[in-house]
Amino acid sequence: MKLLVVGGGGREHALCWKLAASPRLTKLYCAPGNPGIAQVADCVPLAATDIAGIVAFSKQNSIDFVVVGPEEPLTLGLVDALEAEGIAAFGPSQAAAQLEGSKGFMKDVVAAAGVPTAAYARFTDAEAARAYVRKQGAPIVVKTDGLAAGKGVTVAMSLAEAETAIAEAMDGGKFGAAGAELVIEEFMEGEEVSFFVLCDGTRGLALAGAQDHKRAFDGDQGPNTGGMGAYSPAPIFTPALEAEVMATMIQPTLDAMAARGCPFKGILFAGLMLTAQGPRLIEYNIRFGDPECETLLPRLSSDLLPALLAARAGRLDDVTLLWGAAPAITVILAGQGYPGEPKKGGRIDGLDAASSVPGVTIFHAGTKQGDDGIVANGGRVLAVTATGEDLAAARARAYRAVDLIQWDEGFCRRDIGWRALG
Ligand code: ATP
Repeated sequence: MKLLVVGGGGREHALCWKLAASPRLTKLYCAPGNPGIAQVADCVPLAATDIAGIVAFSKQNSIDFVVVGPEEPLTLGLVDALEAEGIAAFGPSQAAAQLEGSKGFMKDVVAAAGVPTAAYARFTDAEAARAYVRKQGAPIVVKTDGLAAGKGVTVAMSLAEAETAIAEAMDGGKFGAAGAELVIEEFMEGEEVSFFVLCDGTRGLALAGAQDHKRAFDGDQGPNTGGMGAYSPAPIFTPALEAEVMATMIQPTLDAMAARGCPFKGILFAGLMLTAQGPRLIEYNIRFGDPECETLLPRLSSDLLPALLAARAGRLDDVTLLWGAAPAITVILAGQGYPGEPKKGGRIDGLDAASSVPGVTIFHAGTKQGDDGIVANGGRVLAVTATGEDLAAARARAYRAVDLIQWDEGFCRRDIGWRALG
């Protein structure tokens, strides 16, 4: 079977690494890929958002199955465009991708389905939004309706902060069209967990829970990032909680999406807040998290490819996935300056020695092949994943590998896993 994976980050390296091990695979391509992915797949110089280019490449190369990693091509309708040409593709349709593409849509769907989530209201008028926050009071959460690369959310601890967020998005146009509509939400408190479910349009198969680390620096200090590390499983997300979330959130959402004529197929990533009143849904994403994907896939013992094919075909009832007992942890190495402008071009050495630490797999994100080795070419550059007999052993291995990597302009957090390990 000939496969094309779309994307070029650490998440897509993990997907390619796992899919490359499938006995059903005959050829693996990745668009655009990266130097790490090039070790297991043929990289194709097409942007993940080049819908026409990806469809044309898939037709010309008789691709049997396309697996889409990032949200942007999904919200642009890549799966619809491929399927319309008779090419099987894994991921939600453009209509179903609205669960991530529009926070207002997501809230309307889950509220109507009775899913436990923050109370909310939608606004297209700044004056009405201001009046609402004055009535509700702070703390309160202001979100742009559309995708804003994780920067469209303001957790406002004061009214002034909330009003500034409204003014920037609606009067100032800070987020363009993504901020023309706002969702304003009740403030929730609790520990956050990411939960991943493989969906086939009507059913969901629970994969695993994970916890990521959004802040740039140790002790959860510094600015928000795309994620500086993760571990799985998350001890706080017990089997009982997982069952509760499947019954009260995931299944009602799948039923509601099917009833609206946009059944959800693909990876449903529920961002959860474990509040004193029980689990509450913060948000849905429509794809694997990054770095959570790099943490989850090394724990999966089963072949991923048949599971993705079954989900796309609406036949998940035939699928059982086996997970290894060993937990996993991922440490992200990023370029100094990230999440602002990172330093690029610095040479990275020691990757072979780091990869040979037992239980360690290194996934590439923002790397580039330089004249005499791998160089940094992005914000998040490497994802160092380790499994171990327990989380402490996995963490020790991950940092042993990190310490073997020589890259002067890189940094990482040294406390990944602190919630579970102390
Ligand atoms: P990302 O995809 O980067 O997580 P996003 O732009 O999709 O971000 P959300 O996940 O909805 O936005 O919110 C980002 C963060 O803001 C959450 O992880 C959480 O920490 C905080 N947050 C969101 N909604 C609430 C809420 N109602 N109460 C308290 N905190 C919230």
